[in-house]
Amino acid sequence: MNAPIDLRSDTVTRPSPAMRRAMADAEVGDDVLDADPTTRRLEERTAAILGKGDALFFPSGTQTNQSAVWFHCRRGTELVVEANAHLVHYEVAGVAALSGTQIRPVATPDGVLTAALARAALRPASPHVPRVSAIAIENTHNAAGGKVMPAETADALGALAAEVGIPLHLDGARIWNAAAALGVTPERLARPARTVSVCFSKGLGAPVGSCLAFPAEARRDLWEIRKRLGGGMRQSGILAAAALYALDHNLGRIAEDHANAKRLADGLRGHPAVAPLAPDTNILMLDLLRERDTADAVVVQLAARGVLVTAFGPKRIRAVTHLDVCAADIDKALAAIADVLR
Ligand SMILES: *Cc1c(COP(=O)(O)O)cnc(C)c1O
Repeated sequence: MNAPIDLRSDTVTRPSPAMRRAMADAEVGDDVLDADPTTRRLEERTAAILGKGDALFFPSGTQTNQSAVWFHCRRGTELVVEANAHLVHYEVAGVAALSGTQIRPVATPDGVLTAALARAALRPASPHVPRVSAIAIENTHNAAGGKVMPAETADALGALAAEVGIPLHLDGARIWNAAAALGVTPERLARPARTVSVCFSKGLGAPVGSCLAFPAEARRDLWEIRKRLGGGMRQSGILAAAALYALDHNLGRIAEDHANAKRLADGLRGHPAVAPLAPDTNILMLDLLRERDTADAVVVQLAARGVLVTAFGPKRIRAVTHLDVCAADIDKALAAIADVLR
């Protein structure tokens, strides 16, 4: 059988030969001792792309998010965040375990936190209730199916945060997708946020790495938090070179992933057994309509036909497009789905 068409996540991409060459050729130093020049180039480049004063390179997006929360939130306070955010579900309760901060989850119909919903979650000033330390947003929203938050919605949340005197953190693991879908720059979407986390190991196709961008004066504190969490890396230029390569070569093509997700959705439209949700970006949710189909069983049957997807609920499947799948792969996936759901 040919290699499977892997639609489980955009994290499954493998570094291309050219990216590996860039990694092999990277100029390196000890980034914990003093500096790694390639890592520094990536940090400066990322800060510029996001319109922030500075940035730090981290091993993962979980660590950038957790470090930002640690930086913004005092122990015994609250973080206001959309109820199905990565920070809520996929960081193993790090906000509680590491920062001693309580999550204030805000339910939304579609994963898009609005200023009105966030405002309603802010408590009255009282010595009996938690104080709020920060608001966090996610763009695109992973669990909501790669849902895009419009720039104006983020702006309104930034204005609310400023009014209350607290910072806004943006989990922009897929900000590249959001910017491409909206036809704006990442800087535009990052503008209302004090800190921004981005990933290089998803749509951009690097093997490892995230950056947290922030105002220049926050560098010292965030450097310490990263070090304390074990995120200081030595010859990290090897990894930063892959991220720089990804910014140079893979950022401009990300709309292809959105077109492929749409191709998959369009190919299933009107199917009696499966209903695709309209994808904003590269994440497609598929709802199984027949009584007898379960997501777990369909995942196994598709895998047997060389198409890997994930169950995202008892009747929901998630398929994610990325650098390593092309339109022809989507057509093969469509044929496999048609076969399984005959
Ligand atoms: C993937 C992801 C992260 C970070 O994940 P890591 O695997 O730790 O890099 C953070 N936020 C969102 C929305 C994500 O999708």
